[in-house]
Amino acid sequence: MHVAHDVARSLTQAVDLVNSRLGDDELLGDLTALRAFLDEHEVSGSRSLTRDDLEEVHALRPRLRAVWAARDMRTAAAVVNGMVAEAGALPQLTDHDGYDWHLHWTSPSARVASRLAADAGMALAEVLREDGRERLRTCQAPGCEAVFVDLSRNRSRRYCDTGNCGNRMHVAAYRARLRSAD
Ligand SMILES: [Zn+2]
Ligand SMILES: [Zn+2]
Repeated sequence: MHVAHDVARSLTQAVDLVNSRLGDDELLGDLTALRAFLDEHEVSGSRSLTRDDLEEVHALRPRLRAVWAARDMRTAAAVVNGMVAEAGALPQLTDHDGYDWHLHWTSPSARVASRLAADAGMALAEVLREDGRERLRTCQAPGCEAVFVDLSRNRSRRYCDTGNCGNRMHVAAYRARLRSAD
């Protein structure tokens, strides 16, 4: 599936945001971690953030995960629509800071959680309207609950990028083959 570069970036951002909390493993524990996340994903907007911003971002994660967990398209659509509406989405074509023309979905003064929610919601909407929920996957490695978006042509991805799961499972499969060959 071909997606525009800004959509691809927003998808990565959404996936990394969901996967920043797996079980008790919290990667966005404080504002420093949140700022690093925003920098890493080149999220525009102010970095003068408060504890409220952090809590709003934390609250966004289970809602995002609910898009992956949705049992049917109607449920997924309702979550995405709610998220985008609450974020007060306001599409803006922009070429700020030397970036090529791309869309922002919120005004420059939007709260960071709203920005992340609108970016994620619109990027997920793009995937959903094209291919339904099929490309929104949860890692199949045992004990891993990381999510990913499978943009591969044959939709064959099974493992996340987060925990080196693909590699881990290939090694496990190889060892199992060796054992059974004994
Ligand atoms: Zn931008
Ligand atoms: Zn995994």
